[in-house]
Amino acid sequence: METWRVGDVEITRVVDVVQPFPPTRLIPEATPDAIADLHGWLRPHFLDEDGNMRLSIHAFAIRSGDARILVDTCLGDKPRPLGLPGWQSSFLEDLAEIGFGREVVDRVLCTHLHFDHVGWNTVREDGAWVPTFPNARYLVGEKEWGFWEHEVDRYAPEAKHDSVLPIFEAGLADLVAMDHRVSDEVRLVPTPGHTPGHVSVRVESRGEQAIITGDLFHHPLQMAHPEWRDTADVDADLARETRLRFLERHADAPVLVLGTHFASPTAGRIVRDGAAWRFEV
Ligand SMILES: [Zn+2]
Repeated sequence: METWRVGDVEITRVVDVVQPFPPTRLIPEATPDAIADLHGWLRPHFLDEDGNMRLSIHAFAIRSGDARILVDTCLGDKPRPLGLPGWQSSFLEDLAEIGFGREVVDRVLCTHLHFDHVGWNTVREDGAWVPTFPNARYLVGEKEWGFWEHEVDRYAPEAKHDSVLPIFEAGLADLVAMDHRVSDEVRLVPTPGHTPGHVSVRVESRGEQAIITGDLFHHPLQMAHPEWRDTADVDADLARETRLRFLERHADAPVLVLGTHFASPTAGRIVRDGAAWRFEV
């Protein structure tokens, strides 16, 4: 498991699954010809030999002071679409190994409520879906929930019922603002577009800074082409605008960027590259 230190804060990546995924399934304009000139920096970490994205579904486990904060809960042990079937991963064992056992996680936060970010919110016990982390507060964006309350995830309509509603029913959900402060060192940053209430997560400690993207980017190739439409974005125009603003703000800055779906090494810096940007690891 990879760990990064940001001042006094420790962030560890805990993987659920890494999946090869054809770029055009998410980004229709990212054809083999159109991304050929990006191979120099996308390979070997982010594109495999067959030209597929290496799409990682992982959580970030953050220790900030006494708080144990889990960002995004991946797929879970549930049947799911997109060639991502019920996955018997060692996710919970891996979390326990780094001191994030089910009983001691205090905060669970989802950057948004798509199925691949809420899965381990719950586990099945005695035929019912129950909170995986019974002593945690689950932070749910008020705006995000306001959208999904009346919508279904078209990729996995059942996700709301097996992974989100049980948290509300157990009384563990706190609806929070898009700039909510989670701890002294961790706060949410609004990055809407992928979903209406989508947030990124900023970590600041002792003058050092990191930011967890969420699905503002699915893949580093979007830094070279932030204008390309991502079919999973709920509001494509707003998502494009948010990507551009994020790139402008973080390029050539001393900010460690942690990609929510970026395969290992996952973390790097955004650097300006002509009229666009690239990800330097
Ligand atoms: Zn996702």
